Amino acid sequence: MKKILGVILSGILCIFIANSAFAASYNTSTNWFDSKNVSHLNTIGQNIVKANKMPATVIFKVTDNEYMNENNTNTTQYVYIYRGDLQYVENDNELAAVVAHEIGHLVNGHYSKSSILNNIISSFNPNTKTENGTATVGLLKTISSNKVNKDNEKEADITAVDLLMTAKYNPLALISVVYKSDLAKNGGLLDENLSCEERIMNIYDYTNYNYPAKVKENYKTDSYQSALNLIYANLKIRNADSKKLEKAKKEQEKLQKDKLKRIRNMAKSTNPWSAAYSVMNWSE
Ligand SMILES: [Zn+2]
Repeated sequence: MKKILGVILSGILCIFIANSAFAASYNTSTNWFDSKNVSHLNTIGQNIVKANKMPATVIFKVTDNEYMNENNTNTTQYVYIYRGDLQYVENDNELAAVVAHEIGHLVNGHYSKSSILNNIISSFNPNTKTENGTATVGLLKTISSNKVNKDNEKEADITAVDLLMTAKYNPLALISVVYKSDLAKNGGLLDENLSCEERIMNIYDYTNYNYPAKVKENYKTDSYQSALNLIYANLKIRNADSKKLEKAKKEQEKLQKDKLKRIRNMAKSTNPWSAAYSVMNWSE
């Protein structure tokens, strides 16, 4: 398996080199979405929802504020897509990637996890009313919510990859959107605690491990090639080191095990979004 992974990864490196001549000459603010309308966003969103057999009735809306979507058990679920993220979208694959990332937060129940954590921390310190107590709780909240946000973003990204694969969109488009948002230092997709490289590496490794044919097939845009160039040096160093390569493989195996465990647990849930998680088609 190690050998296979090595072969796959070195194949990918050849693609990098072959495409490194691409220049990052694209515009990060294309306004492609402005030429469409919200009903187009809804069409793409519905494609993802239907393909992944999500049971809730979903309506997609564009919002001017960054907002963490909250899942509920209502018959109709609104999913808000931040306008700031839509300015980096240049085609349907990239639009689907932004939508899938938001649905990724929903199916993983991130909103409620963050709220529960904040409540627990607030209840820790009996001196919350003193200046120091407030500062301690504030600091704890910041540290832990930074960590939680970072993990949530990574989890939403890899769930988005699965959702996109099932709905027959190119999951590598998510790498492009993240890269373009980071280049412009703007967009709700970004997390200040998570570097662009770490984010891209996370999406890339997950896709390469679970859907290697898709990575081989490539996503032929300048922004994707530039994003790959960003992680190229680190990837090369890691792949040349058998211990690091083995560690990366183990991390993917663990993600896969955790995912299967969660699917089993969520299958019993009455929340339509959790149930949706359990019916996702994980194989290529
Ligand atoms: Zn997010």
